[in-house]
Amino acid sequence: MTVEQTPSYDSRQDEIDALKASLAEANEQLLETRYRLEEANDMIEAIRSGEVDALVVKGDNGHQLYTLKSADAAYRIFIEQMTTGAATLDDKGFILYANSPFATLLDQPLEKVAGRFFCDFISSQEAGECIKLMETAWKQPGLQQELALTSSFRKELPVLLSLKPFQLDGNYFMSVIITDLTDQKKQQQLLREKNQQLLEAQLTARDLNTNLEQTVQQRTKELYTNQERLTRILETMAEGVEILDLDGTLTYANPMAQKILGITQSSDDSSHYNNPKWPAFKLDDSPLPDAEHPQAVAQSSGKSVYDFEIGIQPPGRQMFYISINAAPIRDESGNITGSIATFTDVTQRRISIQQKDDFISVASHELRTPITALKASLQLLERFKNDGNPELMHRLIGQSNKSLNKVSILVNDLLDAKKMTEGHLQLNTSDFLIAELVNECCQHVRVGGDFQLVYEGEKNITVHADKDKIDQVLVNFVNNAVKYAPSSKEIRIRVVVDGGFARVTVIDNGPGIASERLPELFKRYYRVHNDGSNISGLGLGLYISAEIIRKHGCEIGVNSQLGRGSEFWFTLPLAT
Ligand code: ADP
Repeated sequence: MTVEQTPSYDSRQDEIDALKASLAEANEQLLETRYRLEEANDMIEAIRSGEVDALVVKGDNGHQLYTLKSADAAYRIFIEQMTTGAATLDDKGFILYANSPFATLLDQPLEKVAGRFFCDFISSQEAGECIKLMETAWKQPGLQQELALTSSFRKELPVLLSLKPFQLDGNYFMSVIITDLTDQKKQQQLLREKNQQLLEAQLTARDLNTNLEQTVQQRTKELYTNQERLTRILETMAEGVEILDLDGTLTYANPMAQKILGITQSSDDSSHYNNPKWPAFKLDDSPLPDAEHPQAVAQSSGKSVYDFEIGIQPPGRQMFYISINAAPIRDESGNITGSIATFTDVTQRRISIQQKDDFISVASHELRTPITALKASLQLLERFKNDGNPELMHRLIGQSNKSLNKVSILVNDLLDAKKMTEGHLQLNTSDFLIAELVNECCQHVRVGGDFQLVYEGEKNITVHADKDKIDQVLVNFVNNAVKYAPSSKEIRIRVVVDGGFARVTVIDNGPGIASERLPELFKRYYRVHNDGSNISGLGLGLYISAEIIRKHGCEIGVNSQLGRGSEFWFTLPLAT
């Protein structure tokens, strides 16, 4: 191979080197250009594919954000449709972009919002807060704070600001989301009010509860006290109380009812009683049908029955009488579920009434006999007054006097008994020898000659008493001996000193008195022989005697046995 030599090899070589160098530089520039082209291509591709939304261009007045219409459109629609406000601020806090909801919040047209300083829209009191918030938000992305927006038309609007800084092409921006808190605040206020109401309701409920508890406690206490009181009343009542259910089963009987009716509590069931169910009688002694029992009447009629008297005949005992008040018991619906009865033992009252009835018939009879006799004597006197028969006249006058005396004695007894009952008995006391009184008394018996009065015992006993009244007692004892012991011709009067008192006893050997009658003898109207016997008397003599002796502060009594005669006695204070 042949190499053509040029005249100046070295200069050619330099030229070549220079060419090579400029080629290398050109290559480098080409590479750079290619690189830039590629970059521009990439950018164009990115813009076309939507990877780039905006361009920030640095101009004379600082940065300017240029959004790319095609990429921005979707976001803009989206942002415009948001219900919350949104704005983009530059690094000085000026609004580059704001959506319509934000402008609506401010009551401003959108075009008047862009370019304004964001914190100018915050209430004057919180403007400083807003600036501070902006400064902090650059360092703390995602910062949130509640502030108040102001507008010229509306009063302050509570909003939540959410701030997020971002960087674009080396420039700093701040995105702000503005959420209207009006509803939320309203809800919160509502919630607070509801909570307050709830709290108040809770407090009221607690108070009510406390009150209720106190009331319940109070009521329970009252109930217990009332029950206790009721129980005590029922236990101590002088009246019997019993409750029957609709079947007539006795479900309650207070202690007095148990006593009067001879009821015992059932041993196997505390709500039932062993009611003996003795036969009941009407006051005319005819049997009382079950349906006419006051409690049955109260249950069937639904009405109360008052003071209904019935007799009850326990086997082997005397009939006793009770006066019943009965009323139906109803439940809350008004249905009758049983009956309650209160009753008292009125046996004594019934006996008294019976005695009074007997007494009236006896008294009428007793008075009628001497009055009839007196009437007859006076008629005879009238008829024979001109006959000139002094003997007949004398006899008729004597008979009239006798009858009149009997009437007078009966009337005196009645008046004395009345005086005693009313507590009007007056004593006229003096010292006197009992022997003297005994000797002077009972001349009518001595004169009659059928009976002999025998004095026994000491004769020098002086007593301090009402002599006339004691005479009345002694005469009564002697008269009774004559009346009720006619076969005992000897009547002994014994006078002794006994236990610091004078004791006077009138003794007969008559039929005597049954022991069960003895306790009754000194009661008013009581007569042992009032059952068909024809011995006259009002049942007042021993009653009057007992009152006279008791008025002296002394005692009166009787010892008697059937078939062995009787000893009626009384004591008197010795004279000092
Ligand atoms: P009266 O004689 O008017 O009936 P009293 O009060 O004097 O009333 O007597 C009450 C009753 O006591 C009498 O009815 C009589 O049955 C009874 N009695 C009184 N004294 C005797 C006596 N010595 N012997 C028997 N019974 C007597």
